Amino acid sequence: MDKKIAIISDIHGNLSALESVLKDIAANGAREIWCLGDIVGYGPQPLECWRLIEQKCSVIIMGNHEKALAPGGGEKFNARARRAIDWTRDKLLAEAGGEELVAKLTSLPTTLEKGEILFVHGSPREPTDEYLMPRDCRNTLKMRPQFEALARYGFVGHTHLPGVMEPDQDFVRPEDMFLGKIYALDYEAGVKAIINVGSVGQPRDRDPRSCYVLFDGDSVVYRRVEYDVRATRKRILEIPALDNMLAERLVDGR
Ligand code: ZN
Repeated sequence: MDKKIAIISDIHGNLSALESVLKDIAANGAREIWCLGDIVGYGPQPLECWRLIEQKCSVIIMGNHEKALAPGGGEKFNARARRAIDWTRDKLLAEAGGEELVAKLTSLPTTLEKGEILFVHGSPREPTDEYLMPRDCRNTLKMRPQFEALARYGFVGHTHLPGVMEPDQDFVRPEDMFLGKIYALDYEAGVKAIINVGSVGQPRDRDPRSCYVLFDGDSVVYRRVEYDVRATRKRILEIPALDNMLAERLVDGR
């Protein structure tokens, strides 16, 4: 790969976070931005986030929150997430062209393959809904089919927990990588890897800063970006359908 691309995921209607990340991506000279879904849900500015993503990203994968915008969607969500997605759906539908917009979001591709690289929201074998948690690295039964479904590298989001999985090794968190952020991929040795890019708009690894990765074919660099958490927190608190916990969790990154 002769150029640097940025891969982002799980924006969740957090515009302040998205804007900060886009600035950081531009400053780092990434030529393309790929988005792994969950642009909406939980957060206060779904439409604004979608408009930016649509404008800036050359690839956009569907997340489980976009999927849940379909009529009757979100039935698998907990009560808090369901109220948030119902509010999000109503908000988008109230816009001019809202029905077309919802139709567009619910028909985004679930999987994309470029050469030996797979892009999904959840997991290689179940692209939209399955979670690959750090502890799953020890679950050979669960992980083997994931790696079998990969030509070489897979980029995922969904858990909001950044890190890299390789066959027969523990989950490698960014803090355990070179300089706390750089993971060297061994292309020559043929080693497969699943890379979780973390979350822009709702990090859950106890670091409230937005997370995304830069990828150049040989290595993955994890970036953490500060954003105006208080601004997004305040917006969430002002919307009754969005549970206060969705605001407070942003402060601690959980
Ligand atoms: Zn998500």
